[in-house]
Amino acid sequence: MASRVIPVDDFDLVIFGGTGDLARRKILPGLYRRFCAGQMPETARIIGAARSEHDTEEFRQIVRAAIIEFSATHTCDEGQIGAFLKQLEYVQVDARGDQGWTDLKALMRDGVIKSYYFSVAPSLFGDLAERLMSFGIADREARIVVEKPFGRDLGSARKLNGDLAKHFDETQIYRIDHYLGKETVQNLMAVRFGNILFEPLWNSQYVDHIQITVAETVGVGGRGEYYDKSGAMRDMVQNHLMQLLCLIAMEPPSRFDPDAVRDEKLKVIRALEPVEHHDIVRGQYDSTEDEPSYREDSGDPRSHTESFIALRCKISNWRWAGTPFYLRTGKKLKARASEIAVMFKDAPHSIFGEEAGRHANVLSIRLQPNEGMTLKVTIKEPGPGGMRLIDVPLDMSFAEALGEDAEEITDAYERLIMDVIRGNQTLFMRGDEVEAAWAWTDPLIESWEKRGDVPQLYDAYSSGPEDAAMMLHQEGRRWREIKE
Ligand code: NAP
Repeated sequence: MASRVIPVDDFDLVIFGGTGDLARRKILPGLYRRFCAGQMPETARIIGAARSEHDTEEFRQIVRAAIIEFSATHTCDEGQIGAFLKQLEYVQVDARGDQGWTDLKALMRDGVIKSYYFSVAPSLFGDLAERLMSFGIADREARIVVEKPFGRDLGSARKLNGDLAKHFDETQIYRIDHYLGKETVQNLMAVRFGNILFEPLWNSQYVDHIQITVAETVGVGGRGEYYDKSGAMRDMVQNHLMQLLCLIAMEPPSRFDPDAVRDEKLKVIRALEPVEHHDIVRGQYDSTEDEPSYREDSGDPRSHTESFIALRCKISNWRWAGTPFYLRTGKKLKARASEIAVMFKDAPHSIFGEEAGRHANVLSIRLQPNEGMTLKVTIKEPGPGGMRLIDVPLDMSFAEALGEDAEEITDAYERLIMDVIRGNQTLFMRGDEVEAAWAWTDPLIESWEKRGDVPQLYDAYSSGPEDAAMMLHQEGRRWREIKE
């Protein structure tokens, strides 16, 4: 099944922070893959911009090394890398000063799409936006792409939104949440709204509860000091998990268009009930024989920041009244696994009697690794000996379904950057969504800070703190096993 690649229109893309970690690991290798796929016009240009002194040739060598280090080896063809590098330029620019801006202006072409990727610290977003306008570089058609974190609370997110809005219209601002660029996340919408099977059951009458898990095996490592200022709630829940929650819980939008989808997501966030302290479990990973604890990694022996969080939340609307949504995310857990699981209720009456046991359908949507979906269904155990029931997966692994094209599943960053060039904001967060998400999370954070809440320790490479298991156990439920 050959995937169709539709080339985008000619563009100039400036990557501020083009020599930084994110640009080297994700943005530039992603653009290279789109180039290899034939999606980038030969005339399109990518302009790296940062303060350090480099000429274009040096920048090309930085990018060459990044492609080799961070792309799958089979995609690294010397000839293609060379051709891709020819489309790159470098300008030395200081976001906070006047250096380099006129050089950048001289490089930009008229009559092509102009996009500016802010892959720098958020404290520079306002400076970049202001200079792009004051030096006459960006026009009313230009697009800017901004990275997470988008604020650390409602006040700072409002300020960032305000700083960008002084110079750019909302239709020009692309706030990235790379979870929304994942193939499965978009497939979730295709499955929900492209089939008649699921939507009639997608409500509290048939769904017992929903679990969203984003588990990592890595600790905070060298990012400890940075991470300690945010914690799992700010770093993961307020953005990635909330976005997944919105997509799973939203009403069908009238069209697959940016504002129709984002209006529905916003309604979900606004319908979230306030969470009480007994609906939250916070944890910190402990040391192992060979590895440091969270507190050692963070450099603060008395840190109260959480590396794990589990939450129970409810959505006050007709569709979801009474259905709990359980969210959890953490570092140094037993496996790297992200999934959304829709746990359906038991059939209302079992014709097979008590001894057949309980069998409920589960739709699990795996985001990583092995993107795909599985529907657990109940069938008869094969062979003689009466009616014994077993659960089997109806599996739709993208790798199998798409055969050799599975390797070509586009990385989230690649897809999102191409969406920017196409001018499609559907998979980007709108300013009011981000603010609404902070408005929901801020009181939770304030309340545990006021109480002086201390996170519970959990064993590294376990499923997380005991209390998280208890939270569901008390309600006769269990977390799904975290496994790859
Ligand atoms: P980084 O490795 O520290 O890179 C920062 C880049 O910005 C460098 O190219 C740096 O080059 C440039 N820069 C710094 N000050 C500048 C200035 N005054 N004017 C112009 N350029 C300047 O940071 P990063 O990890 O790539 O992160 C970039 C952004 O992405 C941040 O907002 C981060 O939160 C977000 N993000 C990163 C990741 C990730 O995995 N790295 C993931 C999600 C989000 P010079 O020093 O030469 O100027």
